[in-house]
Amino acid sequence: MTELNDLPIRDSLRGRTPYGAPQLHVPIALNVNENTHEISEDILLDIIRNIAESLKDINRYPDREFTALRELLAVYLGHGIKANNVWAANGSNEILQQLFMAFGGPARKALSFSPTYSMYSLIAQSTDTQYVEVPRLERYEIDVDLVTAAIKQHKPDIILICSPNNPTGTPVSLEVIEAAYNATEGILVVDEAYSEFSLNENSALSLLEGRPRLVVSRTMSKAFAFAGARLGYLAADEAICDAMRLVRLPYHLSTLTQAAAEAALTHSKQMLATVADIRDQRDRLYVAMQDLGLDPYRSDANFVLVGGIPDPKKTWQDLLDRGILVRDIGIPNTLRITAGTEAETTAVIAALTDLLGAK
Ligand SMILES: *Cc1c(COP(=O)(O)O)cnc(C)c1O
Repeated sequence: MTELNDLPIRDSLRGRTPYGAPQLHVPIALNVNENTHEISEDILLDIIRNIAESLKDINRYPDREFTALRELLAVYLGHGIKANNVWAANGSNEILQQLFMAFGGPARKALSFSPTYSMYSLIAQSTDTQYVEVPRLERYEIDVDLVTAAIKQHKPDIILICSPNNPTGTPVSLEVIEAAYNATEGILVVDEAYSEFSLNENSALSLLEGRPRLVVSRTMSKAFAFAGARLGYLAADEAICDAMRLVRLPYHLSTLTQAAAEAALTHSKQMLATVADIRDQRDRLYVAMQDLGLDPYRSDANFVLVGGIPDPKKTWQDLLDRGILVRDIGIPNTLRITAGTEAETTAVIAALTDLLGAK
């Protein structure tokens, strides 16, 4: 039998392992930070109608510029952002990949602050971009001094700041983003996948004006409850969008994807109606973990990284045995738990109290 390593694969991919959060079918899946609420029937019907309408032209290639979708995304973002400042792809992972294809590559370097989103290093590997991770401070915070010093030392072509950070939930102040921008001549990507869950008015969208090397990456996979549709996007200077046009595959966003996302965006208020409840569940989870004597980290996202767990692998398995899937991110003594519905949050708190509470 042929093994992967028998193939003449690129040296830089030899021995690598793919992204792999376990996809298990369980009653309560709180492992990949999805919005676990279902989309309401009337919105689903509207999305279906729009997809059905789009099928009339399915013999033709899609609008390569996804003009209508970019208009809707610009309106959704506000901050004076125009359709020409918006670019979209099949998930923000593809957005990141396109950014690496345009601004990274051999002899180029990317920088981020660990622990952070595991896809940054994987995309760096697949594009042969050197990748440096500088450790975060106490409680996984980052500040102006850390970020500025790291950029001055490593002189990266791409800087990735995840805000709020996955997997720690840590918010990042705009002061840090501004300092990072001022310290670099490279591209600064602020990954705001969880921005809608943040109560603070701290989106880097407000910094875009006059900063042509700043990119804000967003997604419909989390707050919008649309992970299966695969729609990520960025807001940036028009020139950044021109760079994306050089590396994207022609017609990369299917007619069906465009139709689904357009319909969803026309209902953005209702689509995001569950966000307030998810925040409440996150805060409830945080307090419950403290009450258990565990060590949750402050989070501005829809998940909580819980520290102080003596044996995370065992607790992960014990939860799974009860039909609850959470994420072991590999940080010692922690598990990451997505804030789900009220019932799901109640279930995970009850299970952890049973497993780890004072006997
Ligand atoms: C979930 C997540 C994304 C979203 O990826 P999609 O490809 O849009 O589903 C991006 N960045 C971070 C940090 C994430 O956690």
